[in-house]
Amino acid sequence: MLKPESYILRIGHRPERDQRMTTHVGLSSRALGASGMYLAADDQKVADSIADVARRFGGTYFCENNVKWKNCISSFKNNSGTVVHLTMYGLRLQDVIADIRAEEKILIVVGAEKVPGDTYELADYNVAVANQPHSEIAALALFLDSLYEGRELELAFPGAELEVLPTAVGKTTLKYDEHRGDIA
Ligand code: SAM
Repeated sequence: MLKPESYILRIGHRPERDQRMTTHVGLSSRALGASGMYLAADDQKVADSIADVARRFGGTYFCENNVKWKNCISSFKNNSGTVVHLTMYGLRLQDVIADIRAEEKILIVVGAEKVPGDTYELADYNVAVANQPHSEIAALALFLDSLYEGRELELAFPGAELEVLPTAVGKTTLKYDEHRGDIA
């Protein structure tokens, strides 16, 4: 596991319009080294689709549905975690990432619509990935790459049923049956 351990808290998710974005928050953070996502909304369909990818492609990423966002932040802090809120209004990523990298575990808060005002006070760091408005998926991906300095691209995902074999042209996948090592 990469250090610091990272977890995502997704707030402001609207099931009627954010399903694709929230699923991509989960999938992108999984691919780039995070350990799991807490979803502060009730949308089991999103949690299930992330869990399905995690089951097929390996690793231990989880998605917990329907958490209370303030409880999630306070219990993370009570367990020696550090809360990082991604916001275009925050301190510049390049100025604070070294300090954040030295923490033991971090909870990265990403919004959908406008986030509640007290998020800014509850966070240990409010961090901007450029002080310009853009997307939570782009902000999260750049943040994780900067946090792990590219090491996340070497991550292994043990227990995969399906693995992509990098190829210059075309698509090649390896399928494993339940007896690990056998290629179907
Ligand atoms: N207008 C909303 C607000 O004022 O909070 C932001 C909406 S934005 C589409 C959704 C999320 O993307 C934000 O809550 C934040 O987590 C993330 N985000 C957008 N731009 C960002 C930036 N420049 N740096 C860090 N995070 C950003």
